[in-house]
Amino acid sequence: MDSDVLIGLEVHVQITSLKTKLFCRCSCSYRENPPNTNVCPICLGLPGSLPVLNKRAIEKAVAVALALNSSISDKLLFVRKHYFYPDLPKNYQISQYDRYGLTPIATGGSVAIDVDGLNRVVRIRRINIEEDAGRIAYPEKSILGSRYALVDYNRAGIALLEIVTEPDLRTPREARVFLEKLGSILEHLEVADTSLEGAMRADANISVAGRPRVEIKNIGSPKDLEKALNYEVARQLNIVKSGGVIERETRHWIKERGITVASRVKELEGEYRYFPDPDLPPVPIGRELIEAIARSLPELPDQRARRIAKEYGVGDYMASVLVLHKKLCDHFENSSKVCGNPRLISSILINEFLRWVDEAGIDISSGIARLSTDRLCKLVQYFESGLISIKLLKEYVRIAVLEDINPEELRSKGLTTLGEESELERLVDEVLRENPKAVADSIRDPKAVNFLVGQVMKKTRGRADPKLVNEIIKRRLSEYGSK
Ligand code: ZN
Ligand code: MN
Repeated sequence: MDSDVLIGLEVHVQITSLKTKLFCRCSCSYRENPPNTNVCPICLGLPGSLPVLNKRAIEKAVAVALALNSSISDKLLFVRKHYFYPDLPKNYQISQYDRYGLTPIATGGSVAIDVDGLNRVVRIRRINIEEDAGRIAYPEKSILGSRYALVDYNRAGIALLEIVTEPDLRTPREARVFLEKLGSILEHLEVADTSLEGAMRADANISVAGRPRVEIKNIGSPKDLEKALNYEVARQLNIVKSGGVIERETRHWIKERGITVASRVKELEGEYRYFPDPDLPPVPIGRELIEAIARSLPELPDQRARRIAKEYGVGDYMASVLVLHKKLCDHFENSSKVCGNPRLISSILINEFLRWVDEAGIDISSGIARLSTDRLCKLVQYFESGLISIKLLKEYVRIAVLEDINPEELRSKGLTTLGEESELERLVDEVLRENPKAVADSIRDPKAVNFLVGQVMKKTRGRADPKLVNEIIKRRLSEYGSK
């Protein structure tokens, strides 16, 4: 059976670096404010109010288009996209469109991703500027089981970029890596802090085995995107296997339950009744502006990966993973400069740190606070001076990230190499070599082992677990005895 998977994404990113909304002077810091306090007649869509375009939003959009190698339109055209939903106060969204002679701010372009060593190119179809809608809060935390909904318009009118890909992604994992990479590009450009709740939301179109595509709405993070798509692949393949029909429909990702459910029937394109917004005449986008922004583009993830691989000698693969998260990469560079040993640090961050951050369910910034440069340096220092083994170093990282405990404290609690078997084995062998008579006695009479245990405990200054020492000695003696 043909089980090919095709995934295309429509990503909405808030330009969180802006101070004000896209068409009014309301503050963008809606997350901290009580509901419906960040609003004015414009973002509430009251009759008689007129939108005024935020110039900084255009500059940020141009920077993103340049970074994705998209072609930038010579003029900015806004349209009204009509639909009726409680979070949309005007009953239309000011957006952009790519048909009927209209044009979005940019089209084309691509993002290269490295998925577990495999290089893939994901084509970008278009980039729109548009306004965000308000937010609907459900008393039961989700749409399921809630008897009513509450609307907060603080978010209405926040500047969004809508970035749409071609259906070039073939696995849920690729979709996750793409979204992480896109987020990292946006962070390097200082367009968005994608770790903020709701700052980057993806809608995914997925078709399995040549069947109609299903759209999954409003997925809040790369990790959830992978989970939601894995769920959908399994769900759709099951339907195909049992001879059922996959409906072309819109589904909702229920994060708490790890499932998708069918949701509102989506409008057909014609029902949006797109037309140019008469309140916003076309604005030319000057070549000088584009060139000025191009000149001031910062170092982007791909460039940075190449530099890091060379400068720190960590290899292309490690570098490509580090740059997926700007903050992680900054942390890597800072810590490598302070503590040295970039290869060890990159391996700790990629192989251990990310895994435990995931496990703890915290974001990378909170994880970095728990495994700060100071703490990382201490660990590298302990490891380099032989105080802890690599196995114990990993254990320290786990505890630091999960429990926010610093390495000094762990050491003072006795979690050192001496608690570890391989190190104890070395000491046991030493004691056995130094006490041939006691070894001979112990092989004859198991009770004599206590003397050897005592010698090992002495060497560890009492810091080892005597039961473990006993076990190791017995194991060793039986090996000796059988020779
Ligand atoms: Zn406003
Ligand atoms: Mn949109």
